[in-house]
Amino acid sequence: MSALILIDHQDGSVAKSGAELAAFGKRIGNVTGVLLVAPGEGDGLVEAASSAEIDSLVIVESSDFKEHGITAMAKALTSLVKDRNPKALLIASSSRGKEIAARVAVATESGIITDAIDIDGDRKTTQSVFGGSFTVSSSVTTPVAIVTIRPSSIDAPSVTSTPSVEKISFSLADSERAVKISKVEPAVKGGRPELTEAKIVVSGGRGTNGDFKPVEALADLLGAAVGASRAATDAGWYPHTHQVGQTGKTVSPQLYVACGISGAIQHRAGMQTSKTIVAINKDAEAPIFDVADFGVVGDLFAVLPQASERLAKRPS
Ligand SMILES: Cc1cc2nc3c(=O)[nH]c(=O)nc-3n(C[C@H](O)[C@H](O)[C@H](O)COP(=O)(O)OP(=O)(O)OC[C@H]3O[C@@H](n4cnc5c(N)ncnc54)[C@H](O)[C@@H]3O)c2cc1C
Repeated sequence: MSALILIDHQDGSVAKSGAELAAFGKRIGNVTGVLLVAPGEGDGLVEAASSAEIDSLVIVESSDFKEHGITAMAKALTSLVKDRNPKALLIASSSRGKEIAARVAVATESGIITDAIDIDGDRKTTQSVFGGSFTVSSSVTTPVAIVTIRPSSIDAPSVTSTPSVEKISFSLADSERAVKISKVEPAVKGGRPELTEAKIVVSGGRGTNGDFKPVEALADLLGAAVGASRAATDAGWYPHTHQVGQTGKTVSPQLYVACGISGAIQHRAGMQTSKTIVAINKDAEAPIFDVADFGVVGDLFAVLPQASERLAKRPS
């Protein structure tokens, strides 16, 4: 085996980052997908997990994942890494993914690289840092490389794999059950995709003056997630969970549309690796145009409705 990938899942569906990690893992060699599930939950996920390019699937069952969260997940992955000796363990970059990765790296004395946007067959990674001002190439020199990769960094091919499936059960030692999760309240979800997973993100900033309706209308026509600058979230115009940037979420979609956002370095840090960036801003000198592939100098309240009107007329 060459690469282990952690396949995220929630509410019976598998995150698309699993297919992306598998596509990266394939460059290294055979790919084993790992599902960390509650007992009995794994069978229902096998088909969805097989839409990634995986050669084998390990379903690790434990009631500890629900009650002891990251502690249990990191311990289970640590055992697998020690047992299987992969060349790399790939995990989607999220705050949870990075915490799990860090714990596994410490426990297995492995090198770790977080927020990579690319990895090659020799485990050399690429990171985009300081708001995209620098591109860093780095490699882990330990036998196992623990790497977290930003979602949407690759267009995963659509495949149907027929992996061998292995089930194992896992449980924490009593002494490791120091922290127990007593209650989890899932955030109320709208119909839009999750920000960090979305292929398209339409974001609004201070230029919206608090009116996100045109931003949301365009997002819905494009099947996009809605993001916001910190100026917009600090003003209470949009929830902080939608903030993009240094102190918000990092997104790397195929298309990022910035509406009424100046393009401060802290905002760019969270979106600069997007494949195509479109900016709509009434100030032609706004720094967002420095990173935009396409720009419209104009009032977003005039531009967005026209764009939405055109898109609505598209043949489906
Ligand atoms: C430690 C630290 C961390 C930070 N983290 C983040 C972060 O995670 N994310 C983040 O976004 N920011 C972050 N910031 C804040 C950042 O520095 C900027 O203040 C913020 O990004 C500005 O948001 P904005 O572009 O919406 O507002 P502004 O900078 O005020 O820009 C508004 C833009 O809208 C344009 N505009 C106005 N009206 C219209 C209109 N009708 N049509 C079209 N354009 C219009 C203006 O020309 C202007 O360019 C951080 C700052 C610090 C110090």
